[in-house]
Amino acid sequence: TALRSVLKAKVPLTVGRMCYSSTVPTTKLFIDGKFVESKTSEWLDIHNPATNEVIARVPKATQEEMLAAVDSCSKAYNSWSETSILARQQVFLRYQLLIKDNIKELAKVITVEQGKTLADAEGDVFRGLQVVEHACSITSLMLGETLPSITKDMDTYTYRLPIGVCAGIAPFNFPAMIPLWMFPIGMACGNTYLLKPSERVPGCAMLLTKMMQDAGAPDGSLNVIHGQHAAVNFICDHPAIKAISFVGSNQAGEYIYERGSKNGKRVQSNMGAKNHGVVMPDANKENTLNQLVGAAFGAAGQRCMALSTAILVGEARSWLPELVERSKALRVNAGDQPGADVGPLISPQAKERVCSLIQSGVDEGAQLLLDGRNVKVKGYENGNFVGPTIIGKVKPEMKCYTEEIFGPVLVVLEADTLDDAINLVNRNLYGNGTAIFTTNGATARKYTHEVDVGQVGVNVPIPVPLPMFSFTGSRESFRGDMNFYGKQGIQFYTQIKTVTSQWKAEDAMLKSPAVTMPT
Ligand code: NAD
Repeated sequence: TALRSVLKAKVPLTVGRMCYSSTVPTTKLFIDGKFVESKTSEWLDIHNPATNEVIARVPKATQEEMLAAVDSCSKAYNSWSETSILARQQVFLRYQLLIKDNIKELAKVITVEQGKTLADAEGDVFRGLQVVEHACSITSLMLGETLPSITKDMDTYTYRLPIGVCAGIAPFNFPAMIPLWMFPIGMACGNTYLLKPSERVPGCAMLLTKMMQDAGAPDGSLNVIHGQHAAVNFICDHPAIKAISFVGSNQAGEYIYERGSKNGKRVQSNMGAKNHGVVMPDANKENTLNQLVGAAFGAAGQRCMALSTAILVGEARSWLPELVERSKALRVNAGDQPGADVGPLISPQAKERVCSLIQSGVDEGAQLLLDGRNVKVKGYENGNFVGPTIIGKVKPEMKCYTEEIFGPVLVVLEADTLDDAINLVNRNLYGNGTAIFTTNGATARKYTHEVDVGQVGVNVPIPVPLPMFSFTGSRESFRGDMNFYGKQGIQFYTQIKTVTSQWKAEDAMLKSPAVTMPT
């Protein structure tokens, strides 16, 4: 009930005094259990991507505020890490219920700030919720190992222990799911957490933070700061922070991986992608085309697992006109409008970049089969809309193929054989995800075996693993040793202590010093 009233009052977005004399609500920092107004003089505007109206402002937290947030995490670590695992589990059992109860409210905030359709925004929350549900099994996930009698009267056992203050730096495209990949696993393991949401979509993270407080997370166990480069550098450099989870672009991710690692921190960095869908002529045509269209243009292509590249093998080349027809039928509209399939891009700059990458394909000799650049959305003329776009006859050296477009653009290549298709995919720098569409088991097996990509779908266009597995993007899509969530996520957020103990009877005690290495 308390949460519902908070949501009604939109507290995390609007609480407290307004920024300057404007009526635009300000996003709060969350420090030591309190939503506080930043004292900064530097603010960024948050826009509704469907209208470009300013809907809120987000502060670039001051150095003092960021220090206060880490200090709060450090102090809380002493008690949170010693809180019984059953008590920590209870917090997440309450948390998952609160999220479930408020999926629609969270989705509304996502659609307003990020632009995706309401149904897709609910999916964003739901996939994050699954990670929270998984965190509720922390009592099993954190079990150590034992080996009795490794020698006479001697046993060895391991504990998985938290590592300290951990931090998460999130992107704009999944305002709920990606923060929920981060702090729930980190905190369930007994760490305290400093979150920096994307400065472009902080509202959903603030609601999720409020729910953590309502679920019983003690003051200081989760702190939230806002900002851009200075906040990121602060996280990479502060000695109390032991681990950083990053999700976002390669430009930021490689930088954060390097700077954080140099400072002795663990870093896991999930980055950009160029995901290929290989279409074999024996695939079920209807099903495959529908899957391709959904995975290329859903969320306006702003998913790291969007299927942004199709490789049509052999006779499947002839399916292209039908692919175009199906894509044309998608409805471009503001995310909160009934029937919307494709919402706006996050910003006018993102739209400009996507349009220029489409043009680069045309200039380099590709064939523009469907052009969404001039789409008009009635009532939302100022929005950042680009309609579904398909570029055919694309060659591997073209810029529209080598760069991640991150918009509703499907580039189409052709291959004579499965081997040719595999070679193409393996030559691409990224290894986030891929899918093959076929009805032949041997073809599917050969593809999954030989393709050098971390997440492979067989007749599954967006193969994002559920949280009992891990998110295993590879090559240029990932830096680090341990992936997000699943067993690897638990490894990332814990360290192992190995105890070797000997309890022997009085008459077996040493009678003289043992100076040789025990064997
Ligand atoms: P982004 O890199 O611009 O921003 C991510 C975070 O990094 C933000 O919190 C931002 O404040 C910070 N940041 C941005 N530029 C920075 C810089 N130069 N130095 C330091 N910090 C910086 O990413 P985005 O645009 O928010 O998200 C889209 C990107 O994220 C795409 O490339 C997409 O593929 C990728 N992504 C990857 C995954 C994955 O799991 N592999 C998931 C979602 C998104």
